[in-house]
Amino acid sequence: MSDFDDLVRKIDSCTECVLSRGRTRSVPGEGSSSADIMFIGEGPGSNEDREGTPFIGRAGNILTDLLKGIGLRRDDVFITNMVKCRPPGNRDPAPEELQACSGFMDAQIELIQPKVIVTLGRFSFGKFFPGEVISKARGKPRQWQDLTVYPMYHPAAVLYNPKLRSVLEHDFGQLPELIAKTITQSQTEQPNTEETVKAQTMTLL
Ligand code: URA
Repeated sequence: MSDFDDLVRKIDSCTECVLSRGRTRSVPGEGSSSADIMFIGEGPGSNEDREGTPFIGRAGNILTDLLKGIGLRRDDVFITNMVKCRPPGNRDPAPEELQACSGFMDAQIELIQPKVIVTLGRFSFGKFFPGEVISKARGKPRQWQDLTVYPMYHPAAVLYNPKLRSVLEHDFGQLPELIAKTITQSQTEQPNTEETVKAQTMTLL
């Protein structure tokens, strides 16, 4: 069993917090295990809980459309959430639930080693930059350890405020160049043939 499959198995059988008691299915994440871009949302909703797949409800459709808009498919990236089980009634995840799940999030970052992490909404943003305000930080790439973190609003925000769609489209529009730049930078630090292929692919987007 790969480390990746082993992690999914651990998430599926986790009972570390109360969210595990109400879940139909856990939602470990979806996409490429060698993705350059990782999207981190908040937590599964009812559709996600039923199917075990992240971002497939109304907010998920917006995310899928935004990806399409920059020529990416869901399979090209990795999509996950701060908590892997549904908070009841779609309430915010509690601090102890975020804490209980944080080891899974760290392990996913370690295994996938994305070049850019896109945080969707305040909970994933808060993991990297606690106490900061997302409306000020969005759309500006930041360094966190050896990773580039790119904060964005959560796609569900568009459901409450349709004007935010153009803000999200703008921020998504910057992603291809950001990825290409980040990969080129990491190549200069550590020349590597596989990275060269990825950088060339992304600059074609
Ligand atoms: N669906 C998810 O998987 N995550 C969210 O944050 C919202 C909807």
